[in-house]
Amino acid sequence: MLTTQSVQDWMQKVNGYMQENKAYLTELDQAIGDSDHGINMSRGFQEVSNKLEQSTYEDVAAVLKDVAMTLMSKVGGASGPLYGTAFLKMSMAVKGKDTVDKEDFAAGLEAAAQGIQQRGKSTAGEKTMVDVWTPLVSWWKEQDEINPEGLEAAAKEAMEATKPMEATKGRASYLKEKSIGHIDPGSASSYYIFKSLAEVLV
Ligand code: ADP
Ligand code: MG
Ligand code: MG
Repeated sequence: MLTTQSVQDWMQKVNGYMQENKAYLTELDQAIGDSDHGINMSRGFQEVSNKLEQSTYEDVAAVLKDVAMTLMSKVGGASGPLYGTAFLKMSMAVKGKDTVDKEDFAAGLEAAAQGIQQRGKSTAGEKTMVDVWTPLVSWWKEQDEINPEGLEAAAKEAMEATKPMEATKGRASYLKEKSIGHIDPGSASSYYIFKSLAEVLV
């Protein structure tokens, strides 16, 4: 279902969406943050794209590890270490596998979601990227087979569900109830990650 090549394709698609939606992500962060999420994501995933193009990989875990290291070292702000941790935990969870099936990747996603929460000292319902990752892990486990359109729809729904939430973690929490009514920027970038994943699943 996921191969060494398709994971690289996944990341190239993520990069495409981050470049295309740089202004939109910045706009979301302007409303409830410090206006840099589009800059952080476009810079970070461009570096990931460059790194993957220059390298050859033995397995899925090796690709994911490089993604993690690149994001950690190139992205400032909260999102760099959080996404870096997510992809590092995902890499560790699928280590030693040539191809990653639905069950293997359930473990990868779960490890990633837990990694974000540990690193961010956060949990679901606080209007952060956790609010996309956690429901997506549950969704993934409930499926007998992953339908790409269903995956994209579940991610979109989770992202949109952050709009009415009041932020209690990250910069947006400084705004208290004024954070209500805006989509969380990190949930939007996480949506692009899952939308891209849906496009490479076979
Ligand atoms: P910064 O807030 O440092 O400027 P970014 O703008 O790149 O970093 O990323 C902000 C996003 O990071 C938020 O929209 C939110 O989804 C996520 N985030 C921030 N803090 C946390 C946290 N403690 N746990 C989980 N996610 C968080
Ligand atoms: Mg920001
Ligand atoms: Mg910042």
